[in-house]
Amino acid sequence: MTVGDKAAIGCMVGGCDKCDDCTKGLESYCRDTILTYNYIYHDGTRTYGGYSDWIVAEEHCGEVPGYIAHGLWCATSMCWITVYSPLKYYGLNEPGKHLGVVGLGGLGHLAVKFAKAFGVKVTVISTSPQGEGSH
Ligand SMILES: [Zn+2]
Repeated sequence: MTVGDKAAIGCMVGGCDKCDDCTKGLESYCRDTILTYNYIYHDGTRTYGGYSDWIVAEEHCGEVPGYIAHGLWCATSMCWITVYSPLKYYGLNEPGKHLGVVGLGGLGHLAVKFAKAFGVKVTVISTSPQGEGSH
Protein backbone atom coordinates (compact mmCIF):
# COMPACT_ATOMS: atom_id res chain seq x y z
CA MET A 1 0.00 0.00 0.00
CA THR A 2 1.03 3.59 -0.47
CA VAL A 3 -0.18 6.86 0.98
CA GLY A 4 -3.59 7.70 -0.46
CA ASP A 5 -4.71 4.10 -1.03
CA LYS A 6 -8.13 3.14 0.26
CA ALA A 7 -7.99 1.21 3.52
CA ALA A 8 -10.37 -0.30 6.02
CA ILE A 9 -9.95 -2.50 9.06
CA GLY A 10 -12.28 -4.76 10.95
CA CYS A 11 -12.22 -5.82 14.58
CA MET A 12 -8.51 -6.73 14.55
CA VAL A 13 -5.44 -4.82 13.45
CA GLY A 14 -2.76 -7.47 13.67
CA GLY A 15 -1.25 -10.45 15.43
CA CYS A 16 2.01 -11.43 17.12
CA ASP A 17 3.76 -11.67 13.72
CA LYS A 18 5.71 -14.70 15.01
CA CYS A 19 3.39 -17.71 15.20
CA ASP A 20 2.62 -20.10 12.33
CA ASP A 21 -0.76 -18.49 11.68
CA CYS A 22 0.72 -14.97 11.47
CA THR A 23 3.51 -16.03 9.13
CA LYS A 24 0.87 -17.58 6.85
CA GLY A 25 -1.16 -14.35 6.83
CA LEU A 26 -3.88 -15.81 9.03
CA GLU A 27 -3.70 -13.33 11.92
CA SER A 28 -7.33 -13.93 12.77
CA TYR A 29 -6.27 -17.31 14.18
CA CYS A 30 -3.35 -15.90 16.22
CA ARG A 31 -3.61 -16.47 19.97
CA ASP A 32 -2.24 -12.95 20.51
CA THR A 33 -4.36 -11.08 17.99
CA ILE A 34 -4.53 -7.32 18.48
CA LEU A 35 -8.09 -6.08 18.50
CA THR A 36 -9.16 -2.74 17.05
CA TYR A 37 -10.42 -1.39 20.35
CA ASN A 38 -8.74 -1.13 23.76
CA TYR A 39 -5.66 -3.22 22.97
CA ILE A 40 -1.99 -2.32 22.94
CA TYR A 41 -0.30 -2.38 19.54
CA HIS A 42 3.32 -3.50 18.98
CA ASP A 43 4.58 0.09 19.30
CA GLY A 44 2.86 0.58 22.68
CA THR A 45 -0.02 2.71 21.40
CA ARG A 46 -3.54 1.86 22.48
CA THR A 47 -6.25 1.04 19.94
CA TYR A 48 -9.45 3.06 20.33
CA GLY A 49 -11.70 1.44 17.74
CA GLY A 50 -13.80 2.85 14.94
CA TYR A 51 -14.23 6.29 16.45
CA SER A 52 -10.50 7.00 16.44
CA ASP A 53 -9.04 9.86 14.46
CA TRP A 54 -6.16 7.53 13.49
CA ILE A 55 -5.09 3.97 14.11
CA VAL A 56 -2.03 1.79 13.49
CA ALA A 57 -2.66 -1.51 11.69
CA GLU A 58 -0.74 -4.13 9.76
CA GLU A 59 -0.28 -2.88 6.22
CA HIS A 60 -2.03 -5.83 4.63
CA CYS A 61 -4.98 -5.78 7.05
CA GLY A 62 -6.62 -2.76 5.53
CA GLU A 63 -6.09 -3.19 1.82
CA VAL A 64 -9.30 -2.44 -0.10
CA PRO A 65 -9.57 -3.80 -3.64
CA GLY A 66 -9.86 -0.91 -6.09
CA TYR A 67 -13.08 -2.19 -7.60
CA ILE A 68 -15.03 -1.79 -4.35
CA ALA A 69 -16.48 1.63 -3.53
CA HIS A 70 -14.94 3.09 -0.36
CA GLY A 71 -18.24 3.79 1.41
CA LEU A 72 -19.50 0.30 0.68
CA TRP A 73 -16.33 -1.24 2.05
CA CYS A 74 -16.46 0.83 5.24
CA ALA A 75 -20.05 -0.18 5.92
CA THR A 76 -19.59 -3.86 5.26
CA SER A 77 -15.88 -4.67 5.54
CA MET A 78 -16.28 -7.40 8.17
CA CYS A 79 -19.07 -9.04 6.19
CA TRP A 80 -17.14 -8.88 2.94
CA ILE A 81 -13.96 -10.31 4.38
CA THR A 82 -15.85 -13.13 6.11
CA VAL A 83 -16.76 -14.56 2.72
CA TYR A 84 -14.03 -13.10 0.51
CA SER A 85 -11.17 -14.52 2.58
CA PRO A 86 -12.23 -18.20 2.47
CA LEU A 87 -13.14 -17.98 -1.21
CA LYS A 88 -9.64 -16.76 -1.96
CA TYR A 89 -7.91 -19.04 0.57
CA TYR A 90 -9.53 -22.19 -0.82
CA GLY A 91 -9.00 -21.22 -4.44
CA LEU A 92 -12.65 -20.59 -5.18
CA ASN A 93 -11.83 -17.33 -6.92
CA GLU A 94 -11.20 -18.91 -10.29
CA PRO A 95 -13.63 -19.31 -13.20
CA GLY A 96 -14.95 -22.81 -13.63
CA LYS A 97 -15.07 -23.67 -9.93
CA HIS A 98 -18.34 -24.58 -8.23
CA LEU A 99 -19.52 -23.18 -4.91
CA GLY A 100 -22.39 -24.17 -2.63
CA VAL A 101 -23.77 -21.45 -0.37
CA VAL A 102 -26.03 -22.50 2.47
CA GLY A 103 -28.57 -19.74 3.02
CA LEU A 104 -29.01 -16.46 1.21
CA GLY A 105 -28.83 -14.12 4.17
CA GLY A 106 -26.42 -11.28 4.84
CA LEU A 107 -23.25 -13.29 4.27
CA GLY A 108 -24.71 -15.74 1.76
CA HIS A 109 -25.69 -13.06 -0.73
CA LEU A 110 -22.20 -11.54 -0.48
CA ALA A 111 -20.67 -14.96 -1.18
CA VAL A 112 -22.87 -15.22 -4.28
CA LYS A 113 -21.82 -11.76 -5.47
CA PHE A 114 -18.11 -12.49 -5.03
CA ALA A 115 -18.36 -15.93 -6.60
CA LYS A 116 -20.21 -14.57 -9.60
CA ALA A 117 -17.63 -11.81 -9.97
CA PHE A 118 -14.92 -14.52 -9.96
CA GLY A 119 -16.80 -16.50 -12.63
CA VAL A 120 -17.65 -19.32 -10.22
CA LYS A 121 -20.84 -21.36 -10.68
CA VAL A 122 -22.95 -20.94 -7.54
CA THR A 123 -25.67 -23.10 -6.05
CA VAL A 124 -27.62 -21.68 -3.12
CA ILE A 125 -29.04 -24.21 -0.68
CA SER A 126 -32.01 -22.98 1.32
CA THR A 127 -35.04 -24.16 3.17
CA SER A 128 -36.94 -20.93 2.55
CA PRO A 129 -40.41 -21.45 1.05
CA GLN A 130 -39.52 -19.22 -1.90
CA GLY A 131 -36.36 -21.22 -2.70
CA GLU A 132 -33.34 -19.62 -4.24
CA GLY A 133 -32.34 -22.30 -6.74
CA SER A 134 -29.18 -22.35 -8.82
CA HIS A 135 -27.62 -19.15 -10.24
ZN1 LIG B 1 0.53 -14.73 15.76
